Amino acid sequence: MNKVILATQNKGKIDEMREIFSKFGMDVVSRDEMGLPKDDIEETGTTFEENSYIKASTIAKQCDGIVVADDSGIAVDCIGGKPGVYSARFAGEGCTPHDNNVKLLQLMDGIPADERGAKFVSVITLIYPDGKKLVARGECEGSIAEEIRGDHGFGYDPLFIPKGYDKTFGELSVELKNKISHRAKSLHKLEELIREQRDK
Ligand code: IMP
Repeated sequence: MNKVILATQNKGKIDEMREIFSKFGMDVVSRDEMGLPKDDIEETGTTFEENSYIKASTIAKQCDGIVVADDSGIAVDCIGGKPGVYSARFAGEGCTPHDNNVKLLQLMDGIPADERGAKFVSVITLIYPDGKKLVARGECEGSIAEEIRGDHGFGYDPLFIPKGYDKTFGELSVELKNKISHRAKSLHKLEELIREQRDK
């Protein structure tokens, strides 16, 4: 196995997955590069696992190959784990990542530093051409900064301070993020599952 088709159209995720998969000697091909339909896939699930499967199985029906989909988001403790699976559209349909960050900061106005805990979650589903499926989850704990800081990465990166650091993912290097992030962890878990599958 050395080529995987990615179900995502999110450039930030494609870049990260390309870099992380290359460490396992695997090439990544995006939906666009495969010439697949560009339609948005409706994420009707209520868990990361459900949405990850919806995305992977939709693309698997459109092509022949190994398909990988990531569903991810941020869960903030003091607002009951929101926005969770609604992370991409937290500030409403068609909103920008900046709108989402502003909305989160407004909701957390006045919350002290020790109550600003949060985690990023990534669930990856891989579907083989014979329909067999592997599911891997990764989490990255941290907290929400009091203002937007840094311009690296994408989405909520300028607000997320990973545990053990005092800078946001927006300020830290992409190389570091790709070693400790939720997606790095889910992809490493996936790698273990792929190895187990091969050795069977
Ligand atoms: P999805 O495409 O439905 O999985 O939406 C994921 C959303 O969660 C993204 O649009 C971002 O808002 C957020 N998100 C997921 N992973 C990250 C990350 O690594 N950094 C920052 N935001 C992320």
